[in-house]
Amino acid sequence: MSAGWQEVADGILVRRHAELDLNCGLVLGEGACLVVDTRSRLDEAADLVAAVRAVTPHPWTVVNTHAHYDHSFGNAAFRPAVIWGSRGCAATLTATAEEQRAAVVAEFRAAGDIHAAELMRVTPVDPPDALVDGTAVLDVGGREVVLRFLGRGHTDHDLVVEVEAAGDATVIFAGDLVEQGAPPAFEDAWPAEWPATLGRLHALARGPVVPGHGAVVDAAFVGTQREELLAVLGALREGRLDAGPYPPATMRTAAMRLRASELRSR
Ligand SMILES: [Zn+2]
Repeated sequence: MSAGWQEVADGILVRRHAELDLNCGLVLGEGACLVVDTRSRLDEAADLVAAVRAVTPHPWTVVNTHAHYDHSFGNAAFRPAVIWGSRGCAATLTATAEEQRAAVVAEFRAAGDIHAAELMRVTPVDPPDALVDGTAVLDVGGREVVLRFLGRGHTDHDLVVEVEAAGDATVIFAGDLVEQGAPPAFEDAWPAEWPATLGRLHALARGPVVPGHGAVVDAAFVGTQREELLAVLGALREGRLDAGPYPPATMRTAAMRLRASELRSR
C-alpha cells in the first residue's frame, strides 16, 4: 500500500496525516470507493485526492464525520461527487464555517505561517448535500457501509461510518467521538451525553476503530475512553476540575460546555 495508506482490513485504508494527526479513510469496492473526511484546505485535499488516485481509479463518494474544518473544508476538491453528512453537520458547517476559518487563519498568522493562512482563507466551504438524520446504508461497489448518528458527543451531529469487513468484523470510522494521543476535544461537546454515545459505539465495534486523530484503536480503547468521559462528568459534578483524567485546560472547556448544556435544557 502506497501514498501513506495503512490497510486496517481488506480494502479498508487509513491515512494518518502529520497535520493535526488527522485520519482520513478510504473504502474500496468493485468500481467505486468511499472517502471519509476531506482535510482542512484545498491544497491538503488535493494531496488526499492524489493519494486516493494512487490506489484506485474508481469514482468516489464522500462522507464527513462532522463539521469541524479539519474534517470538511476539503470537500470542494472532491466535487461533483455526492457528499454525505448528518443534517446537523451541513447546518453547522453553513452556520460556523466563517468563524472556524477566521480562527484558523488567525492562528496561522500568529505563528508566522502567512502561506498557510492564505490557503485557509481562500478555501471554499462546501457542506454535505446527502443528509442523514438517523441511519443511512450505502452500497460502495457491493460493500455495505452504514452511517449512524449515535447521539450527541464531540458535537451535536457526529456520524460514525461502519464498514463491513471479513467474517462478521467491521471497521468503524469514529470521527472525533474517539481520539487517540490527545484528550478528546470539548469545544462543541455535550459532556453529559458523550459517555452514552460512546457506549453505543462500543457495542457496535467488532474490529479496528479509527479515531478522528491518532493511532487506530479497538473496542477496548473506546470502553476506556467512555470511562474517562464518565470520570470527567463525575469530577465536574463535584466541582473538582483537578480530579478528572484530562489536563486542566480540557477540564475547564468541558465544565463550560456542561454548564451551557444544562442551562439550555432547563
Ligand atoms: Zn472535531
